[in-house]
Amino acid sequence: EASPEPRSGRSAALRARMEERLLGARFRYLNQQLYTGSSQDAARLFRADPAAFHLYHQGFERQVRRWPERPVQRIVRYLRRRPASLVVADFGCGDCTLAASVRNQVHCFDLVPLSPRVTVCDMAKVPLAAESVDVAVFCLALMGTNLQEILGEANRVLKLGGTLMVAEVASRFEDTHAFLKAMMQLGFKTVSKDLSSSYFYLLEFAKTGQARPGPAPGLRLRPCLYKRR
Ligand code: SAH
Repeated sequence: EASPEPRSGRSAALRARMEERLLGARFRYLNQQLYTGSSQDAARLFRADPAAFHLYHQGFERQVRRWPERPVQRIVRYLRRRPASLVVADFGCGDCTLAASVRNQVHCFDLVPLSPRVTVCDMAKVPLAAESVDVAVFCLALMGTNLQEILGEANRVLKLGGTLMVAEVASRFEDTHAFLKAMMQLGFKTVSKDLSSSYFYLLEFAKTGQARPGPAPGLRLRPCLYKRR
């Protein structure tokens, strides 16, 4: 009688491959939902299904591990060059790599806590007083379609002259010039822009004042949809 080992070995490998495919498909679906809905939709989605959040994060990790450099490391380097006394707010902090890597006080916000440092909330409404932080960070986190509301919240909590750092997937920018112009309307002037990576752009802004009301049509980013591999 033939040993059952090789056959079960084969079917285990097949099952692992199928599971991997399903996880990949589920990640891409969740990712698409996050980029095509508002931040409030995202909050509802993860509140209803925390397991989806963990799955999303596994998929996210797998994606950025392929990149030559993690954008959050650029922001870590930036903060290390500046005084540690600056108070930071990390919008969409994920696993809190930023807070764990700098000496600054960092307020960490995300929808589900991957770390005990996280304050769970929708980034469009964070529990911070107006003009209370020096640096606001969005590292691959400008996901909701209500960008104006989200960036308006960053404007609210930033001190005048404070810094806004944005790292975003390069291919999401349709019209960078129009985007930066819209940022002016939201009360942010461009201090520096590093568009040299084909993976992500790194933009530094300074708060010049409060956001001016009214639509900011240039404030558009394409959803970041991952291809099946
Ligand atoms: N900044 C981290 C994680 C980026 S992934 C890093 O660079 O590694 C994007 C993160 O934004 C995810 O953790 C996701 O849960 C979070 N996020 C998306 N929409 C959000 C919302 N409406 N409010 C708070 N966090 C949100």
